[in-house]
Amino acid sequence: MQYQSTRNKSVKVTSAEAIKTGLSSEGGLFVPDSIPSVTLEDINSLVGKDYHERAYFVLSRFLTDFSEDELRTCINAAYTKEKFETDTIAPLYKLNDSAYFLELWHGPTCAFKDMALQILPHLLTTSMKKTNEDKEIVILVATSGDTGKAALEGFKDVSGTRIVVFYPDNGVSEIQKLQMVTQDGNNVSVAAVKGNFDDAQSGVKKIFTDDEYKTLLSNNHFKLSSANSINWGRLVPQIVYYFSAYADLLKNGEIKLGDKINVVVPTGNFGNILASYYAYRMGLPVNKFICASNENNVLTDFIRTGTYDKNRPFHATISPSMDILISSNLERFLFHLNGENDKTVSEWMTSLSENGKYSVSPDVKSQIEKLFWADCANETETMEAIRSCSDKYGYVMDTHTAVAKSVYDKYTKAAGDGTKTVIASTASPFKFNQSVLIALGGHNAVAGKDEFTLLEELSQKSDMSIPKSLAMLKNKSRVFDIVCEKNQMQQIVSDFLKID
Ligand SMILES: *Cc1c(COP(=O)(O)O)cnc(C)c1O
Repeated sequence: MQYQSTRNKSVKVTSAEAIKTGLSSEGGLFVPDSIPSVTLEDINSLVGKDYHERAYFVLSRFLTDFSEDELRTCINAAYTKEKFETDTIAPLYKLNDSAYFLELWHGPTCAFKDMALQILPHLLTTSMKKTNEDKEIVILVATSGDTGKAALEGFKDVSGTRIVVFYPDNGVSEIQKLQMVTQDGNNVSVAAVKGNFDDAQSGVKKIFTDDEYKTLLSNNHFKLSSANSINWGRLVPQIVYYFSAYADLLKNGEIKLGDKINVVVPTGNFGNILASYYAYRMGLPVNKFICASNENNVLTDFIRTGTYDKNRPFHATISPSMDILISSNLERFLFHLNGENDKTVSEWMTSLSENGKYSVSPDVKSQIEKLFWADCANETETMEAIRSCSDKYGYVMDTHTAVAKSVYDKYTKAAGDGTKTVIASTASPFKFNQSVLIALGGHNAVAGKDEFTLLEELSQKSDMSIPKSLAMLKNKSRVFDIVCEKNQMQQIVSDFLKID
């Protein structure tokens, strides 16, 4: 199987090259040139298999230039019981006879980004070897919170890699900051940037596009790379857990082989929901994809009208990992729906960068309407979803999952559809303890309390134990106290790599 660019189909590379380069040189994203198909019998064979085997089932069909041994080594290194605090890696929680939460947050940083970022470093270093690249990889990340920590945990102590994470000095939650400044590992660095997320992100972009600096790095045997969500190596591991959820539903007798399910995904960059669409294209029986947004509801409007328009106010919400106005992975989806027409996709993306909007053809719009349903939840509705789910079922969700649950309730009300539904649960409630406790007990419940008191209280209220990685933060020492100006970021990288 080869990978082609969404903006130029004549670009054809192996999966190892697609993972190594991340983005095609003309700005397009890599997509497989054919989508592998599986039969219901193949899917049925997953019932008795563990997560490693399920991962091999999917990865081996897409990363066809990797050997079995290479893939199994990557999978075994990523999904361990020590890192995931659960035997099944992505357990399914039955809420009632029609709704199931697919818990994707048992990894080391308590958010679903671990599902991909635990394996990406191994796929990346293997891709480097396979393409005879002998330089050391330097990963640069600008983060608004979740991605930075997940990337640090994924890359720490992976030989042949270094990682530097920049976060906005006043733009991440207390827990997120603690998670990053206490990071261990012999190849990691973390720095706060004076400014907001955009400042950190433009600083990183500037380093990436500085040819002189890249030459300097190259002369010192380093090569820059990125861990962001448009890399194919981050998308493909996410396809696995949709098959895994279906296999668990079969295993538990909740569905019969061939029954269709619905999928609800709290969406930001459109990566997670796109992974479920790839699973469907491979043969997973899906009835509807329900795309849930917070107040940054650019995708809700797009799915309903066919016009993507990012010209709107940006809202900082209690589900910050979904505060996104440009959903990069949508480009892959449009490419597949649009008869793989690279010219049209290029035009739409040019229009997006020049005018902030584009409209798809009536044909693409009607295909989306058939398969997708979209809605959004505002802050009040999100809080209400957390409270009512806890009252009714004793199940406590984080703020992102709550957006999905709220939109799912709107869907069942509007469509009267009782199809069994898998709701992607993307973060541990402990990671967003402040908002969750306010939802459960009002503002007085949190006033004047420190993070660790809040974790304890949430543990009591939810009857869940505090994830080890968060509880441990209390006794960890702060290793990184670097605070830099925007224009010092390159120097931070050079200092860390000891080059000048
Ligand atoms: C990143 C993230 C999302 C959004 O996922 P996308 O793949 O960007 O759509 C949702 N919830 C949480 C907790 C996240 O970290």
